[in-house]
Amino acid sequence: MTTKNPDNLREQLIAAVLKKRKALARAQEIVVRLIEPNIQQDEFLSLLSEIDPHNYADIVEERSINKLCGYPLCSTALENVLSQKYKICGRQNKVYDITERKKFCSGHCFQASEYIKSQVPVSPLWLRDKEMKTKFQLLA
Ligand SMILES: [Zn+2]
Repeated sequence: MTTKNPDNLREQLIAAVLKKRKALARAQEIVVRLIEPNIQQDEFLSLLSEIDPHNYADIVEERSINKLCGYPLCSTALENVLSQKYKICGRQNKVYDITERKKFCSGHCFQASEYIKSQVPVSPLWLRDKEMKTKFQLLA
């Protein structure tokens, strides 16, 4: 392979840019898809390898804004969302930031979502095709 040829190099650069754009557009498509209710487990797990943790956080955020539990496999509506940002635990005399927890219908959904988020790859989306596919696990 010759990389000294300017035309060839230019072609390679264009191909790289197009590939990157395509991967980013695909991730956005997945975000839009996973904002919907009634997402099936198989579909959910198959889409995770094409998003990054930032996309995942967007999904949780958008769902909660739409008053839907932030965990994509749960279709429970969020009701009576607490308006406060902190919760004080009297027994342990500690203050907790509940900003994230408020986006979920239950502690279980919060944990299940955090568990999935921790497995979403951090590598650039457009380089994923060269990686081993992650085998995502749901919280039991
Ligand atoms: Zn839930």
